[in-house]
Amino acid sequence: MTAKIISGTEIAAQIREELKTEVAMLKANNNIQPGLVTVLVGKNPASVSYVTAKGRTAHELGFYSIQDDQPETIAQDDLLKLIKNYNEDPRIHGILVQLPLPVHINENKVLYAIDPDKDVDGFHPVNVGKLMIGEGRFYPCTPYGIQQMLIRSGVNTDGAEVVVVGRSNIVGKPIGMMLIQKAKDANATVTFCHTRTKDIKAHTLRADVLIVAAGKPNAITADMVKEGCVVIDVGVNRIGVTPEGKAKLAGDVDFAAVKEKASMITPVPGGVGPMTITMLMLNTVRAAKIAAGIAVD
Ligand code: NAP
Repeated sequence: MTAKIISGTEIAAQIREELKTEVAMLKANNNIQPGLVTVLVGKNPASVSYVTAKGRTAHELGFYSIQDDQPETIAQDDLLKLIKNYNEDPRIHGILVQLPLPVHINENKVLYAIDPDKDVDGFHPVNVGKLMIGEGRFYPCTPYGIQQMLIRSGVNTDGAEVVVVGRSNIVGKPIGMMLIQKAKDANATVTFCHTRTKDIKAHTLRADVLIVAAGKPNAITADMVKEGCVVIDVGVNRIGVTPEGKAKLAGDVDFAAVKEKASMITPVPGGVGPMTITMLMLNTVRAAKIAAGIAVD
């Protein structure tokens, strides 16, 4: 069997088109323009490029969008005041503070200062707790993207064995928690694996859906995957340089070999990666609707 490729690039483009229409309708019918601020502290090149991409996408979709650049030396109290101002600004529905922050700033203190109603990254403990009890409003963007890829590729998780390799707070734990919910597009039997798991292969071989977020190239090889499994590779690993001088990327899965056993698989790049920013935009539209008292699903 050669797997069908699940293209995050295509699915993300489709969701962005839907969002563009929704934003235009919100403006025309409700006089609402979703507003997103991205706060960038310092000039970390990767952070600059992420924030630029987020701002560009927000602009393309018709959002009110601000990029707030702050110096590396900003005091924690000043950053907290800035967030308080955005919490109170009615034009802003989503606040994103780009991580990592400089070492003199307590990241959690900053993230927890964001109004949970504007927490479009879904990292605030209130939103993590709501996800846990099945009342999620803002799902963390990468797990949310993974769930959308499964839905839009026709993968039914109801009763399926889902194995998640990785237990981080931003990918592994939330995607497992989302798929175990007693809810539509969830209802899976979920197993989490990590570096202390005794026999990872024994678990991965049971997976109908295998989600890998380990950050280790070739963590999953073909002998670890069941014939017909759906494989979602979240990993992004720099494994060299292309002839054009760009970073050569690979996921966590031995793509060439595993695609011969899987029924569907995501590539790296072009898989989960393009979904993340798109889901941030979706969360911001959702926040704008919630703020206006418009029903969301
Ligand atoms: P992380 O915080 O480093 O967590 C990695 C997790 O994988 C940990 O729980 C670790 O176990 C586990 N792990 C590592 N090696 C393993 C192995 N060989 N077998 C089993 N478990 C293993 O990473 P993360 O933030 O979740 O990110 C994971 C990967 O996804 C990275 O490559 C990252 O760049 C990528 N990522 C991509 C996107 C995107 O938009 N595409 C977004 C976020 C992350 P322990 O807990 O025991 O240490």
